[in-house]
Amino acid sequence: MSSVQELLVSLGVNPASFQNGSLKVHSPIDGAPIANVVEQSSAEVTAAVERAHAAFTQWRQVPAPRRGELIRLLGEELRANKEALGRLVSIEAGKIIAEGQGEVQEMIDICDFAVGLSRQLYGLTIASERPGHRMMETWHPLGVVGVITAFNFPVAVWSWNTALALVCGDAVIWKPSEKTPLTALATHALLERALKKFGDAPEHLSQLVIGQRETGEILVNNPRVALVSATGSTRMGREVGPKVAARFGRCILELGGNNAIIVSETADLDMAVRGIVFGAVGTAGQRCTSTRRLIVHSSIAHELAERLKKAYRTLPIGNPLEAGTLVGPLIDKAAFDTMQTALQKAVEQKGIVTGGQRVLHDRFPDAYYVEPALVEMPAQTEVVRHETFAPILYIMSYERFEDALALQNEVPQGLSSAIFTTNLLEAEYFMSAAGSDCGIANVNIGTSGAEIGGAFGGEKETGGGRESGSDAWKGYMRRATNTINYSRELPLAQGVKFGDD
Ligand code: NAD
Repeated sequence: MSSVQELLVSLGVNPASFQNGSLKVHSPIDGAPIANVVEQSSAEVTAAVERAHAAFTQWRQVPAPRRGELIRLLGEELRANKEALGRLVSIEAGKIIAEGQGEVQEMIDICDFAVGLSRQLYGLTIASERPGHRMMETWHPLGVVGVITAFNFPVAVWSWNTALALVCGDAVIWKPSEKTPLTALATHALLERALKKFGDAPEHLSQLVIGQRETGEILVNNPRVALVSATGSTRMGREVGPKVAARFGRCILELGGNNAIIVSETADLDMAVRGIVFGAVGTAGQRCTSTRRLIVHSSIAHELAERLKKAYRTLPIGNPLEAGTLVGPLIDKAAFDTMQTALQKAVEQKGIVTGGQRVLHDRFPDAYYVEPALVEMPAQTEVVRHETFAPILYIMSYERFEDALALQNEVPQGLSSAIFTTNLLEAEYFMSAAGSDCGIANVNIGTSGAEIGGAFGGEKETGGGRESGSDAWKGYMRRATNTINYSRELPLAQGVKFGDD
């Protein structure tokens, strides 16, 4: 058994699920095959939806704080296995060790949040216009939740959805990325351990279905799946959204971003450089919140570009499992080819490119490591308006703050945004109704990453969904408005008279 397979077994995964299946998994670290995962047929996926629905009808009747106990147990499993699961994330998705561990920490954090939430699924009490009446809102479990996830956050995104959905009384079916099924198998094995300790949860409350996008399509088209929470490219969201809408299902879409940082002439440049470099090259530019555009005041544009070039020259690129590495590999050759095509286009559109070449091909001929690229652009051209899922940072300059804001908002995506400034008026304007149009608008902190306490998601082509903290849980429940008459009269609303009145 290879070391990856031993790691999987130590996390509780049955070897039969990854030894002789049809889905070949490669590690982006060296391109080597690491497992052959068993995929589910379409009939099996449909049967899983039926089983999930049966589980839902029981789980919705379990008191919410008791449901929270299951998530508390899941959090314990994750704590105990943080290092092993984080390592598997690094092996399968190519993240550096600290980011792999950080991803598991996010899972632990959302579990803690959801346990508290299980006692706080509050509704409002509303003043009734009728005497002797009371109105209120009640939140009820929604149904089966289909969770479709992307390769770059192979486990955290599942937990953001599942911790909330299970506490809210729903059943879950997870379709992970076809590029990262091993971390899904391991995560699900940990949930199964928690379920065993919990004792009496209905069978099939949470299921994992492995396959290509067609597997996801079965969840998308099945009316038994009340909510589809899909994370991935805008292309995917464009296919999924209308199909779910056509059957009046509910969607949470978490799609591509094209995140910008505005750097004002008053910015603390030391802080800005740190925030920009982490945001642009972390996870090798493969985060939905990666910094892809810099909009810099012309008076400091040259200085900032030079400082970034200097910082980029010393970036440790290499095997993400080795201590000291900050930039790991791209996920695969297709990602590398897409990056090179974008850089060619940038040159055609008058950009000046620094970096961007493939490196380490002698040591890793079947893996794709790149120098992160800085591209000085004369304008926000067509290529800049696109999300290229790779470490490319476009730099543009501005004269007036209003122009910077217009550039920031003038792209189809609306996920994350930031401004570095010490000018209070600019900072407030950036966060105001006329400011950034993104779901995340930060001041003096970069675009990348987010705490689980806030609702996460973005506007426009990012899909409009919200998950994780704040009141995102409402997306996983249905709301009933209740009017209770405790009088002996039956007054009608709006003063309507009917019959003998
Ligand atoms: P992708 O769109 O190729 O795939 C994502 C998932 O959707 C996979 O599980 C895939 O099998 C499934 N899928 C694809 N087409 C489908 C369809 N028609 N019906 C049902 N399922 C389908 O994305 P990827 O390459 O894995 O991930 C990178 C993308 O994800 C980037 O665009 C990134 O910005 C985005 N992303 C967004 C967020 C967010 O929260 N906004 C988070 C992570 C990643």
